[in-house]
Amino acid sequence: MIQINDHYLKLQASYLFSDIAKKVAAFQENNPDKDVIKLGIGDVTNPLPAACIKAFHAAVDEMATTSGFHGYGPEQGYEFLRKAIADHDFQARGAEVAADEIFVSDGAKCDTGNIQEIFSTACRIAIPDPVYPVYLDTNVMAGRTGEYSDGRYQGIVYLDSTRENNFVPELPNESVDLIYLCFPNNPTGSTATKEQLKVWVDYARAHKALILFDAAYEAFIRDETLPHSIYEIEGAREVAIEFRSYSKSAGFTGTRCAYTVVPKECVAYDAAGNAHSLHALWNRRHCTKFNGVSYPVQKAAEAVYSEEGKAQCKALIDGYLENAKIIGAAMTELGFTYVGGDNSPYIWVWGDRDSWDFFDLLLNKAGVVCTPGAGFGKCGQGYIRISAFNSRENVEKAMERIRTALS
Ligand SMILES: *Cc1c(COP(=O)(O)O)cnc(C)c1O
Repeated sequence: MIQINDHYLKLQASYLFSDIAKKVAAFQENNPDKDVIKLGIGDVTNPLPAACIKAFHAAVDEMATTSGFHGYGPEQGYEFLRKAIADHDFQARGAEVAADEIFVSDGAKCDTGNIQEIFSTACRIAIPDPVYPVYLDTNVMAGRTGEYSDGRYQGIVYLDSTRENNFVPELPNESVDLIYLCFPNNPTGSTATKEQLKVWVDYARAHKALILFDAAYEAFIRDETLPHSIYEIEGAREVAIEFRSYSKSAGFTGTRCAYTVVPKECVAYDAAGNAHSLHALWNRRHCTKFNGVSYPVQKAAEAVYSEEGKAQCKALIDGYLENAKIIGAAMTELGFTYVGGDNSPYIWVWGDRDSWDFFDLLLNKAGVVCTPGAGFGKCGQGYIRISAFNSRENVEKAMERIRTALS
């Protein structure tokens, strides 16, 4: 008898985005003359930077020639891209990362989901609440979380992100082995200082633990004092793996390119306590299960680091950050408190009411779609996430409607 992986039965079906879609569809049916403005889903809306498009086209043309054709590339990514990443994203900021420590992939979602398979299923996992759901669900699938009851998995150590800690979780009281952190954060938009990250790096070193650091939103950082990479923290090379993506930084959500950094010093232990290189393990896993990102996509990603590419990406992100400012100003004007938006495309608003009630209010009174915070975890109750990923015109129109409806 063929049997399923019954850990899958523990997954809490996420009805979040389908529930939102149903509510939006019902609203539109009852109000056929009203258009709905979507500030809910975390997907970019602007086209790819011109420098990326140019490189993308040129690479496609190369593929049409015998001399320029590329078959299977190196699983870890082409040297031209790995070198550009090491130079521009790390060395330029004083973070020590070498090209051969970079693993190019087709997404940070897959990487953050796949990485856990190189660790024991007995690991104690610490996961923030609220959270990007991938970290949690992939550990459920692997059987690390225990049963779900009273809104939480009993085997997970939740790291509460609340107003009290300014949405940067404190160290857990118990010992954990694997720690997920994401800054600038999705969904809260909060950031962590070097001092705050140092606390986690020191904990990981003292406990022989490992940090999985998701920096998918680092390009939104405008505060010069904030770290873009965990490797800007002393000692992090021994205890941290970092995930990056071109999805939000260069509009690659539909083009697909990302990378994972596994420093050579990073180790994990076998049952006898012997240290093993995580670089070697991840390299083995990556080469066995992945055949590389397409050549044209890697050429398009490389163009992000050209002078034009850098300027165009900055302009793209500045546009979203300006949207975030407009959203934040409207929230303040209406008397709401919020975090995020200044180094992040997300604004996390305290509604002082049930998340879904707040969602319904904005949809029914203003025709604006946000995301109820409760969908990201228990600590998200009472909040909504508003995304800055939309056109200036739509964001201004949405805020005007919310102002009229609520003031
Ligand atoms: C959008 C996002 C990513 C990027 O995922 P890709 O698969 O590279 O598109 C990673 N982490 C978080 C928290 C995100 O919100």
